[in-house]
Amino acid sequence: MMLDAILENLKVLGDEASYINSEGMTTFSELYGYVSNLYHFLLRENEKRLPVVIIGHKEVYFRAAMVASSFAGMVYVPIDNHTPRGRILEILEQLGEVFVIGGSFSSQRCVSVSEINDAMRCVSERGIERIYMGKDDAYYIIFTSGSTGKPKGVVVSYKNVDSCVRWLASLIDVRGKVIANQGDFSFDLSVADLYVSLFCGATHLAYEKDCDEGAVDRIVRCLPSYAVFTPSFVDLLLLDKRFSAEGVPSLEGIIFCGERLRSITVRRLRERFPTIELINCYGPTEATFAVTGGIVKGEEISLGTAKDGVEIVIADKQMAVLPDGEVGEIVIIGDSVADGYLSGESGGFFEQGGRKAYRTGDLGLMVGGELFFSGRADGQIKYKGYRIELEDIERNIAELGFVEFVMVYAKRDEEGRVLKICADVLLKNGEDISARDIKAKLSDRLPSYMIPMIRVVDEIPLSANGKYMIGADINGKKTYY
Ligand code: AMP
Repeated sequence: MMLDAILENLKVLGDEASYINSEGMTTFSELYGYVSNLYHFLLRENEKRLPVVIIGHKEVYFRAAMVASSFAGMVYVPIDNHTPRGRILEILEQLGEVFVIGGSFSSQRCVSVSEINDAMRCVSERGIERIYMGKDDAYYIIFTSGSTGKPKGVVVSYKNVDSCVRWLASLIDVRGKVIANQGDFSFDLSVADLYVSLFCGATHLAYEKDCDEGAVDRIVRCLPSYAVFTPSFVDLLLLDKRFSAEGVPSLEGIIFCGERLRSITVRRLRERFPTIELINCYGPTEATFAVTGGIVKGEEISLGTAKDGVEIVIADKQMAVLPDGEVGEIVIIGDSVADGYLSGESGGFFEQGGRKAYRTGDLGLMVGGELFFSGRADGQIKYKGYRIELEDIERNIAELGFVEFVMVYAKRDEEGRVLKICADVLLKNGEDISARDIKAKLSDRLPSYMIPMIRVVDEIPLSANGKYMIGADINGKKTYY
C-alpha cells in the first residue's frame, strides 16, 4: 500500500531533495533517518499507542512526525501553531488522552520542540523494518469548523488516504519534480501534496506563513512543476507579475481544490501560463481531500468526474436520486468516505448498500458524468480558502458572556465570493465593550481568519417576515438559512 511505496522511496532516493522549507532542503535519506528515529522514539515512548498530536507549522519535525506515526501505526492529529490555545484545548478535550509533540499541556504526555528535534537528529543506524499501520486503521484526525462552536474531528482511515493518493498520482506525473504546497498540514488540502510527493518521489515545497521569503519568491527560486492551491491563493499570487511562464517556466499544472474556481482566475492564469494544465478537484475533508477531478477546458468550469471507487449522486431532500441536469445535494458514496466524526455524531454520514456515504451539504448537478457546483444551502462558507461554519463564530461570540444576541453573516461580491465576515453584536444591558475588545477576546478562541468585522449594534435588524438576517448578502439581497 501507500506506506510501502513511501518507505521504499525514503530508502532509495538518497540525496534527492525531499522537502524544502525555511530550514533549508532535506534529502530523502535525511528524512528517512529522521522518520526512522521518531518511529523508534514513538514505539518506545508512546507505548499505549495514543493518538499523536503534532503541533507546529511545517517544520521538518512536523513532516517527519506525521510519517513516523503512520509507520508506527498511530493515528496523528495535525494542529497548526497559529491555532489559538483555547481552540487547541477544546480539541484535546475531545481527544482524551494523547501524546503531544510540539506543545505543553498539563495532564498529557508532552514532548517539546527541542526534545523532538534532538530525538529526530540523534545518530542512529536503525531503520524501519515493519509498518504497523493496518488498512482499516485511523490514519489522521483533522479538525474542521463545526456549527456547534467547537471544532469537529474527522477520522480518516489509511485506506481512505491510500485510495486518494493513488488516484492523484494517476492525474499528474511528478516523479523527480517539485510539487508546491499551500495548505497548513492541519487542513486536508495539504494531504494531496504531502503524500503525492512522498509516494511518487517528488520534492515537497512548503509554503510557510510569517516567513521572510514570500510565496512567489520561493516559487520563483524553487521552480515547482505542480502545485496544490486554492483559487483564492492563486488570485493572490497573480498580483505578482513574476508568477508567469517567464518567472516559473517549470510549472506544468495546478491542482485546485477547496473552493469555487472562478472563470476570471482561469482567464488570468491562461494569460500568464498559456500551456499549463488546470485541474479542478472537489471534495470535503469527510471524503479525504477530493473525490472528483478534471482538466479545465472551456469557460464553463466543472468539478470533473468521480475518481475510481467513488460514486457521486445528486439527491433531493428526501434522498431520492435526481436525473442529469437537476440541482440537488451532492452525495458521495464509496471508498473515499471517511470513518466518521470523532464525537460519534453521524452528521452527514450514512450507509448505502453496505458502502459508506456522506451527504455533503453542497449543491450541484451532474451532466454526462461531470459534476458542477451550485453553492451551499447552509451557513458553511469558504473564506480565503478556509472552511468556516458561520454558526461556529456566532456561538463563540455568544459564549463571551456579555452578548445578548449576535448575527454573523458573509458579505459577498456579485459572483458569490466571500469578501468579509461580519458580526452584528447586541450587548447585554449595562455592558459597554468596544468592537476592538470583542475581537481581542475572540482571538483566544478562534483563528485569525475566523474573526469577523464586528459592529456593536443597538438592535438586531429583522427582515420583513421577521427572520434574522443571517446568511449571504449578495448585491444587497439577503438570503436566509
Ligand atoms: P474542506 O473540508 O475544507 O475541504 O471543504 C470542503 C468544502 O469546500 C466542500 O464541501 C465545498 O463546499 C467546498 N469545495 C471544495 N472543493 C471545491 C471546488 N472545486 N469548487 C467549489 N467548492 C469546493
